Amino acid sequence: MDICKKIKETAIQSGMWQAGFINTRDLLFYPEIREICNGNSCRNYGKTWACPPATGTIDECKKRVMQYEKMLLLSIKYDLENPFDVEGMQNAMFSFKGSVDIFDEKLKVFLLDYLLLSNEGCRKCTKCTYPDAPCRFPEYLHHSIEGYGFNIYELAKAAKIKYNNGENTICLGPDYTRKGYGKQIVKGLIEYCRNTYGAKEFIYSTRKENKASNQLANAMGFKLVSSESKIDNRDGHMYYLLTYRYTL
Ligand code: SF4
Repeated sequence: MDICKKIKETAIQSGMWQAGFINTRDLLFYPEIREICNGNSCRNYGKTWACPPATGTIDECKKRVMQYEKMLLLSIKYDLENPFDVEGMQNAMFSFKGSVDIFDEKLKVFLLDYLLLSNEGCRKCTKCTYPDAPCRFPEYLHHSIEGYGFNIYELAKAAKIKYNNGENTICLGPDYTRKGYGKQIVKGLIEYCRNTYGAKEFIYSTRKENKASNQLANAMGFKLVSSESKIDNRDGHMYYLLTYRYTL
């Protein structure tokens, strides 16, 4: 059997939902996406051997990837109870890591040389040895794909796999509010839109009663341009949706 076909089939047997190949010569590595890691909004920066700065500069990451002719992008779809289902998101994150480990075990049987990246840090040990001692399990260490500067939307498009599986949102759990993460995310989004898509304007909407979100808009210098009354489909109550604009 063709080796690419065999690798892809092995991915699906390991629990992956979709898998698609990309030629590495078509890959783009974005320093501004890597910069998001430096903001440490995920709290993994400088905490594990799987994340920057331990994984090296973006050029070192690129060199590592470019040793290979093809990249296989993997995805699994997890259903959440609602857009604020933080527990479901965390379970999905751990579950995906588990599937990557299964895939790794199966790959080892027939493939000698490959680089397997995973998602969001490394949770194998209760406390990572970084930076005081070498990784305890280097053979099971998978760098986080986030730190390689990839635009995942672009990768999904190139690999012909689905990126968006329905309505989605970004939310912060109660332990992460009032710590400036929202501002970092919005700043990162603005940079991303400007640098990746050449966006000229950033539109931001939030409910009037969401004080923190409106304070963030004001702190970022966004201009309030409209206030519309809306009906919440979930319980029928009326609310005001405020829309802000920011010229990039
Ligand atoms: S396997 Fe353990 S020591 Fe190695 S990166 Fe993961 S958590 Fe750290």
